[in-house]
Amino acid sequence: MNEELIERMRTIVGADGILDAEEVRKRPAGFLRTDTLQAGLLVRPRTTAEVAAVLKLCNQNKQAVVTQGGLTGLVHGADTAPEQIVLSLERMNTIEEIDPVQRVAVAQAGVTLQAMQEALEPHGLAFPLDLGARGSATLGGNAATNAGGNRVIRYGMMRAMVLGLEVVLADGTVISSLNRMLKNNAGYDLKQLFIGAEGTLGVITRLVLRLTERPRSQNVAFASVDSFAALTGFLKHMDQSLGGGLSAFEVMWRDFYELVTTPPAKSSPPLLHGSPFYVLVESLGADQEQDTARFVAALEKASESGLIADAVIASSDRERAAIWAMRDDVMQVARYGMPFTFDVSLPVDAMERYILGVRRTLSMRWPASHCWVFGHLGDGNLHVVVHTGNNNDRADVERIVYMPLAGVGGSVSAEHGIGLEKKPYLPLSRTAEELALMRTLKTTLDSNNILNPGKMLFT
Ligand code: ZN
Repeated sequence: MNEELIERMRTIVGADGILDAEEVRKRPAGFLRTDTLQAGLLVRPRTTAEVAAVLKLCNQNKQAVVTQGGLTGLVHGADTAPEQIVLSLERMNTIEEIDPVQRVAVAQAGVTLQAMQEALEPHGLAFPLDLGARGSATLGGNAATNAGGNRVIRYGMMRAMVLGLEVVLADGTVISSLNRMLKNNAGYDLKQLFIGAEGTLGVITRLVLRLTERPRSQNVAFASVDSFAALTGFLKHMDQSLGGGLSAFEVMWRDFYELVTTPPAKSSPPLLHGSPFYVLVESLGADQEQDTARFVAALEKASESGLIADAVIASSDRERAAIWAMRDDVMQVARYGMPFTFDVSLPVDAMERYILGVRRTLSMRWPASHCWVFGHLGDGNLHVVVHTGNNNDRADVERIVYMPLAGVGGSVSAEHGIGLEKKPYLPLSRTAEELALMRTLKTTLDSNNILNPGKMLFT
């Protein structure tokens, strides 16, 4: 790394804002990874002005920059090479404002999702994005990857919860688009350009978040279901019956349910093994007593009409947390060694046949392989986890999982993004014209290609 460039970085962010290659190599490369970071330098600015000065300098020197948040992504979107610089916003971690009347919060990009959620509790407010990596994932990373998670069916993805952004462009220009209003049709909605762009178009430094009133009731049930048709019928029935209260509909195929309820997994099975499908259903509302009565009545009706085979209803916070803990115990998929994980989206009516096809192909090729399926059925989003026992099988497994998606109008990425991992498959989910427009945006905003180069569809 160019010594003069490092020296100029030091004058921008101060000596404690710089980590050299040796120090960087001691930091873990991310969630679920045992390797370490390989960048030549890590820069930790404290202010937007410092971010702007860093990027301006990098742009003048055509120096590649990879912006990193909590490193909880699953598609290698924040991987770095030795000749690259890491821009970490970990010192920009201040919640600047919580406005309970307008119901917005203003936060720096390095604030973790969990810190934001907890800060809102005393105000009776909530930021409804929620995902397993909440303790490390940052708001800036949530926006850059358009994070989804467990309650998308009710609140949408990160894109729907951001009202405004402050972004620094590759040349150091600060775009302050810190809109606080729900309605603002004054021209292009520029923030949406940067949400989900995986750090390729600009660096998000601050966010205005849309808050909700904090739910006062929570109901959780876990049900077994005998057929896929009953499963989709149950989803429609619950959504109709709960008057907008449905907040999660998390499905597990049988293999995944057995995995997370068999030792060494800590959860004991709340329902007997053996049904083809299981579902966690949750509603959030305003009045525990009334909402529970409505929730129980809806489940009874579902049972009478044959939509569900059996169900348990959690009757305390502890039981509700236990059912969610079972669903979130996804690390069990690493029981036999690191598997291949996928995050796909497809129309609900194509799901059953798609999974049957993928399973059939996998078991013909690798009779001893595992394929665990679970996901956010109401969002059309499934996580498919495959273990063949041999890391060299990855490309073959990818083709088996991804190729059938094009024919049913599915997507190779529902909520995890593209990064490096899905880059070869992006054309399966996007037309040539869409890809060309993405390239036009990239070259217009980052003509020297310094921002997260090589990721998504760019070289
Ligand atoms: Zn998910």
